[in-house]
Amino acid sequence: MAERADRLEAAVHAAQLDAVLITDATNVRYVTGFTGSSGLALVGDGGLRRFVTDFRYLTQSAEQLDPVWERQIDQDLLEKLAAGLPEGPFRLGFDDAAMSVKEHARLAGLVAGEVDLVAAGGMVETLRMVKDPAELERIRAAQRLADEALEDVLSRGLAGRTERAVALDLELTMRRLGADGTAFAPIVAAGPHGALPHAVPRDVVIPGGTLCVIDWGAQLNGYASDCTRTFATSADVTPHDRDVYAIVLRAQRAALAAVAPGPLGREVDAVARQIIEAAGHAEHFGHGLGHGVGLDVHEGPWLRRQGEVALAAGHVVTIEPGVYVPSEVGVRIEDLVVVTEDGHEVLTGLSKELLTAPRFEGQPSTTASMSTELD
Ligand code: ZN
Ligand code: ZN
Repeated sequence: MAERADRLEAAVHAAQLDAVLITDATNVRYVTGFTGSSGLALVGDGGLRRFVTDFRYLTQSAEQLDPVWERQIDQDLLEKLAAGLPEGPFRLGFDDAAMSVKEHARLAGLVAGEVDLVAAGGMVETLRMVKDPAELERIRAAQRLADEALEDVLSRGLAGRTERAVALDLELTMRRLGADGTAFAPIVAAGPHGALPHAVPRDVVIPGGTLCVIDWGAQLNGYASDCTRTFATSADVTPHDRDVYAIVLRAQRAALAAVAPGPLGREVDAVARQIIEAAGHAEHFGHGLGHGVGLDVHEGPWLRRQGEVALAAGHVVTIEPGVYVPSEVGVRIEDLVVVTEDGHEVLTGLSKELLTAPRFEGQPSTTASMSTELD
């Protein structure tokens, strides 16, 4: 953990800053190990390591922070932090992606005359892209748990339950298996509703004879997983829908094969996009191919048309092309992948063939009566 602050100090130096102020809670956690909701960290030249939190986290911060950090407790974090800065000249980087305009104005008023505030967002996020072995183990465990949860939920059936009932079952099952929580609210979207990439599960019974998109992830020991599978809700899926599925699967496999150190995010995106465009669905794939996953379920590097970061060993990314035909059907297939020295390792353990999910054999219920259904 102390090594992360050292790497950040090197980045601070390279950016010709004297120090950087970390305000985003996830970045604070990454750099210091502190998991509370209120904390500021300052990392700078010459081993400067300051951390400010409030009284509620007196004990927790003492337990979680390495002794290299000078720890301070105060009700006004920003004032305390500013009071300890040198008189200047001092170039202080701040996170222009995380700090509000209001907080920035306040900080500017608190620092002494010769302290320059310099926009320096993204420094910690850049470090976070490359995962260390302990982080990879946590992400792997989160994905394993999510795989297991889905298989458990599917064994109870898909068609015949409402989208909301399946989504809630997934949430509860992940928690029961030990997840801290969900990485995001699960998506369960059947038939034409699946054509909405970020569909919200409805109190509508999932019918047979169609496709159902399920996108879910677990949060475990701070780290997220992310996966999407699309299932047939009975064996009599139309040839058209099977066709769409086959196109997405082909695009997904081709893009996955391109995952290795070297290519830019946009180059891997293009592999899938060309296949989907050639199949006549150019306008039906409107989102990026994938994103990084770590402490946040959506983080860098981004695999999309504007993705200028080259993949490197230790990156964890999703490969998730989709085809969304409005008012008809949607298909998305998403794997979680680690970039390794000589290629990649897929963390998702579930099949990508078009599988038919069993039918739910009980009374369709709304979420209001879910508890009895689960007993
Ligand atoms: Zn997803
Ligand atoms: Zn995703």
